[in-house]
Amino acid sequence: MEAGIASELRDLVAAARGLVSELVEEGFETPPAPPEAAPVAVQPPVPPEPPREAAPRPPVASGVLGLFDEAPAWDDPPTLEAVREALGDCRRCRLCEGRTQIVFGDGDPEADLMFVGEGPGAEEDRRGLPFVGRAGELLTAMIEKGLGLARRDVYICNIVKCRPPGNRTPMPDEARTCSPFLDGQIAAVRPRVLVALGKPAASLLLGREVAITRIRGTWQEYRGIPVMPTLHPAFVLRQYTPENRRAVWDDLKAALARARGGLEKRAD
Ligand code: URA
Repeated sequence: MEAGIASELRDLVAAARGLVSELVEEGFETPPAPPEAAPVAVQPPVPPEPPREAAPRPPVASGVLGLFDEAPAWDDPPTLEAVREALGDCRRCRLCEGRTQIVFGDGDPEADLMFVGEGPGAEEDRRGLPFVGRAGELLTAMIEKGLGLARRDVYICNIVKCRPPGNRTPMPDEARTCSPFLDGQIAAVRPRVLVALGKPAASLLLGREVAITRIRGTWQEYRGIPVMPTLHPAFVLRQYTPENRRAVWDDLKAALARARGGLEKRAD
């Protein structure tokens, strides 16, 4: 009887060894570790965050301080020259690597209407001026033929001053890095009305991501200045429908009317 049990055990051990060597041949070198017991509440549960109030937007001059970590780069209000000088041969973000030159802005330093686009394209990068490519020709035609103004009577710039590679949309960190200079330009020009051309410009000026097709044509505000968001001329060129052309045309007329009606509201 004992001899029988011993022989069965030997057979079992031999079978187990055989199984193990088969598994090893198939690549299962070590048997999987047994699952560990779930840790018992090692950390106390994180309490819910109290609701935060939106941080108030700083006035232009102190907003500038954060960027430079030193004395303000310009007076309050600054001049466009001071802002351009502070920008210098900018290497604050990766966009400097692909640019031919910085495209700062163009037009009347005391314009009532200021247009803010996205970033320079190939032609702008070549000539050093904003909105001089195909989209620029449409914008210029709308300003001159549509509104009856000369291009030199308005101020035009972009949220980033260097051409993004392949004309891609500026990345959030690039827009953020460049934004003190846009703030400075707006503080210098002090337009009566800002026109945000497209989603990136509208989102940056309003401090939140917006759907341009939803908010275009509605009055918004940037640091006390009325903002009219509208479709970007490049988008209108791509979707050259009567509806899109009419939408931009309505928005620009509203912007001009407000800028003209706002004469008495200007402090100086
Ligand atoms: N040209 C610019 O200067 N800005 C744009 O957003 C598009 C074309």
